[in-house]
Amino acid sequence: MKGCLERMCFAITCELYEKKGNKGNKQMKWEENVRKVVPYVPGEQPQKKDIIKLNTNECPYPPSPMVQKAMQEMDYQDLRLYPEFPEKTPLTAHLAEYYHVKEEQIFIGVGSDDVLSMAFLTFFNSDRPVFFPDITYSFYDVWADIYRIPYEVKPLDADFCIRKEDYMGECGGIIFPNPNAPTGVLMGVEDIEDIVKAHSDVVVIIDEAYIDFGGTTCLPLLESYDNLLVVRTFSKSRAMAGSRIGYAIGNEKLIRYLNDAKYSVNSYTMNRPALRLGAESVKDDAYFKEICGKIIRTRERSEKELAALGFTFPKSYGNFIFASHKKVRAKEIFEKLKERDIYVRHWNKARIDDYLRITIGTDEEMDALFAALRSIV
Ligand SMILES: *Cc1c(COP(=O)(O)O)cnc(C)c1O
Repeated sequence: MKGCLERMCFAITCELYEKKGNKGNKQMKWEENVRKVVPYVPGEQPQKKDIIKLNTNECPYPPSPMVQKAMQEMDYQDLRLYPEFPEKTPLTAHLAEYYHVKEEQIFIGVGSDDVLSMAFLTFFNSDRPVFFPDITYSFYDVWADIYRIPYEVKPLDADFCIRKEDYMGECGGIIFPNPNAPTGVLMGVEDIEDIVKAHSDVVVIIDEAYIDFGGTTCLPLLESYDNLLVVRTFSKSRAMAGSRIGYAIGNEKLIRYLNDAKYSVNSYTMNRPALRLGAESVKDDAYFKEICGKIIRTRERSEKELAALGFTFPKSYGNFIFASHKKVRAKEIFEKLKERDIYVRHWNKARIDDYLRITIGTDEEMDALFAALRSIV
């Protein structure tokens, strides 16, 4: 059964791979033994200066001044030695203190992408499919494909909400972001609890990449459920996408399994500077709260401006707005903004191809966006 599903997934992956334009190249003999995957495509990172970059949900503000100070005081000789063991570092210590959990409940990685990838590898090891939404972080199906994990996508409802009932059946695990990406729609903690409670036989992963922008975290559920893993990142709310720091919090035993898998692939993924700088960011809670608050206020103002311009969107709990215009097609707006050096995100994907995901920038950046939109729509 398992082998059969794996072969099916593999056949589908190969077919998709060819569809995406890899056809026609002459097949080398060894290629049939290659582990093929259609890769995740991140948002553009244009090298041009003076652009307004609202396409990858980075933070428009700098990291904490404490991070800056620590960076300036770093000694390059520290690089001679391997970093600390990943389960006991300055970063894990500060995160444990911040969240009032044991250090043994924290797993860290090179961005939450690394954490999530390890979690897929470690916990999604069943013949039954893993469940996640049809519209969600588009890395999930890529990890499922590369690790040959069977999965089943569950369509969001017409308002882009996750339907709890869809996640109640037997499965090999569950994962979704809360708030969801790229929609920004938040699910209540009670609903998440019902899902976690119904699945004591598998791990439920909640990807809280955007939880710091006004959502309610499900971290308190960790006291009652040992099958819940909460994943977070420094890339969005902590303004440190370039340092690649992510972490997961869960039951000690869950974290032990994650670390076993990590040590079996590459024990030291995070570098010394990132471990130090991440810890400094966690120490400066006042600054963290200040920038999150600023982004939330700019988001609220942006919602009013966009509505006045004829856009509709679900209420967002992220540092972005997922908006569609009543008259002008998203693709056209996307291209015209790009001509004006304003980058937002657009996907040529069913159900969402008439939407733009607009990252919340500074107030000045958003004003430039609104001015451009006024002339486009
Ligand atoms: C940005 C994002 C991540 C990954 O971020 P990292 O930079 O790898 O930490 C994970 N999940 C979601 C939903 C995201 O939007």
